[in-house]
Amino acid sequence: MGMDLFGVNVFNDSVMKERLPKNTYKALRRTIDEGLALDPSVAEVVANAMKDWAIEKGATHFTHWFQPMTGLTAEKHDSFISPTADGRVIMEFSGKELVKGEPDASSFPSGGIRATFEARGYTAWDATSPAFLKEDEGGVVLCIPTAFCAYTGEALDKKTPLLRSMEALSKQALRLLRLFGNTTSKQVKSTVGPEQEYFLIDKKFYEQRLDLLLTGRTLFGAPAPKGQEMEDHYFGSLKERISRFMKDLNIELWKLGIPAKTQHKEVAPAQYEIAPVFETANIATDHNQLVMDTLQKVALRHDLVCLLHEKPFAGVNGSGKHNNWSMTTDDGLNLLDPGRTPHDNAQFLSFLCAVIKAVDEYADVLRVAAANPGNDHRLGANEAPPAIISVFLGEQLSDVFAQLGNGGPKSSKQGGHLTIGVTTLPALAKDSTDRNRTSPFAFTGNKFEFRMVPSSLSISGPNIVLNTIVAEALAQIADRLEKASDFQAELRLILKQIVNEHGRVVFDGNNYADDWIAEAERRGLPNIRSMVEAIPVLISDKTVALYEKHGVFSRVELHSRYEILLEQYAKNVNIEAQTMIHMVKRQILPAGMKYAAELAQGIGAIKAVSQASVSVQEGKLREVSAALASVQQKLSELEKACEEAKSVADTYAQGVFYRDVVFKAMGSLRADTDRLEMQVDAELWPLPTYAEMLFLL
Ligand code: ADP
Ligand code: MG
Repeated sequence: MGMDLFGVNVFNDSVMKERLPKNTYKALRRTIDEGLALDPSVAEVVANAMKDWAIEKGATHFTHWFQPMTGLTAEKHDSFISPTADGRVIMEFSGKELVKGEPDASSFPSGGIRATFEARGYTAWDATSPAFLKEDEGGVVLCIPTAFCAYTGEALDKKTPLLRSMEALSKQALRLLRLFGNTTSKQVKSTVGPEQEYFLIDKKFYEQRLDLLLTGRTLFGAPAPKGQEMEDHYFGSLKERISRFMKDLNIELWKLGIPAKTQHKEVAPAQYEIAPVFETANIATDHNQLVMDTLQKVALRHDLVCLLHEKPFAGVNGSGKHNNWSMTTDDGLNLLDPGRTPHDNAQFLSFLCAVIKAVDEYADVLRVAAANPGNDHRLGANEAPPAIISVFLGEQLSDVFAQLGNGGPKSSKQGGHLTIGVTTLPALAKDSTDRNRTSPFAFTGNKFEFRMVPSSLSISGPNIVLNTIVAEALAQIADRLEKASDFQAELRLILKQIVNEHGRVVFDGNNYADDWIAEAERRGLPNIRSMVEAIPVLISDKTVALYEKHGVFSRVELHSRYEILLEQYAKNVNIEAQTMIHMVKRQILPAGMKYAAELAQGIGAIKAVSQASVSVQEGKLREVSAALASVQQKLSELEKACEEAKSVADTYAQGVFYRDVVFKAMGSLRADTDRLEMQVDAELWPLPTYAEMLFLL
């Protein structure tokens, strides 16, 4: 089944080959493979072929599909029809329409880049990611992946800087490859395989919870009697309803050319994971957006709701996205593959050390790429990787890494010791070490796995950072090597220095242990505990210099992202707080009061007819009344905090206020209402419980 379906809705290489004139095909391939600019006449021919193909498959509309700073995707459909003088229509789609679109940009977040009166924005065709058809009961739409920028040229999206960062990485990686004698590779691309975690719950529960509907997470809920402590969920067998869902999901993804590969139950009840085979960073990012869309769409068909939030339920694991990342040449060489020959090993070790140097030097930049409001519930909360960034290498590589630090020209002559590019290194067998599940940045055989990424976030940001910081480390290494008179000696020196200066970031132990926090502090590693705290690094001089040097973000673009993130945080907490206020006032307090009234009536009724003891009822009434009073008190405090937050003018100060005051007030209100839930008659409780949501599927 998979074979016939795979890619049927994609304008992929084989379709292009079949439908485009040879010259057009070749010209387009050069754009895709070598990043060369595209000729307008080529676009015209491609547009026509694309239109014919799409119409044959039932499409009536096309859209430039882009990724604004909301982190979601955006589309505005245009039909192919073009009226003719005789009152009929023809189906048209020009090269111009393929290459450039002009959506009104005023209602997308821009962080102050443009005022609303300067609404003009442009979308530009990204030929490196294939066009595809979105197909559902609403019809078939041709989607053209595009970058989105302002009239003034600044990127307003998540794709433009990603493409820029891929170019930067390619440029610097090629410099180093040339120094190692590689004359054939033309491009280096980052490859990405994101493992997507998610929850599925029954739609009927979802619909009864305003918090899930508006915020994606439960803002209330006493813990279920059973959580994940039996460890019976991870890799457990799938209920039939779920496997039916997954079957449907895979079909939809395969049709879109997304190589969905693994699927399994995750650690928490009702939690699952899907991972496609890795692709180039750009396509993997587009595809991950489609995976998130498709998960939600297909779930609904099965009367399920897919929750992508990082922490939909307190007390059980949250969801993340493991971003597997490597670098591959256009001729198929994985630069993080340890390989077998010494020459390759030297090259491998250089790339490996570049990554380590990059992660240590820019840990804070990497950290902000993993920040979103939901992830504040995970990072450092003893489940996901902690907020401290460190690199796991595994026993064998750690040993090699240490040897690099001690090594040098002398030890090479003594034999048995490590030298670079001269003597044979121990063959670095893959998977030779135990797996580590606690490290935020782990080497896993031939790639790094960045595990801090939030489940709902676009993976664009994390990969922009990885590409750029590694490009910078490679640039620094290449700068020195290109000038060196003795390549081998200089390389040994460089690697030794990296080990000595950046070895502090390497940690193979248990990242969840309390000692690690103290140890990391001794090593001088940053421990950035919250999104708000992480954001300012975006506009530090060091970060601006890094991104400007590599042409990934301008200062203006970074400032806009700084503003957008702070705003997103504040708005997010505010919406959650307002949702709590609504639910407490309109559902939770009334339920508690109703129960109190019932108790009082019951007590009165019993006393009227008998001498029987009503001490239990009276105790209960006192308890519930006290709980209600406390809930009311916490509610007032939260309302007051929200009012105050509005008046904080500076966006950063406002973010801090939301985190330290509003978010805290939400926590204490919740603690009270969760206690109340345990005191009130289940029949009267207005919200589906944790047990129902997590276990009734
Ligand atoms: P695990 O759960 O063991 O981490 P999975 O199979 O769930 O492994 O996911 C591993 C992910 O890493 C997959 O998406 C896979 O395609 C991806 N991957 C493998 N090799 C590379 C590579 N060279 N570059 C990027 N991603 C890779
Ligand atoms: Mg993994």
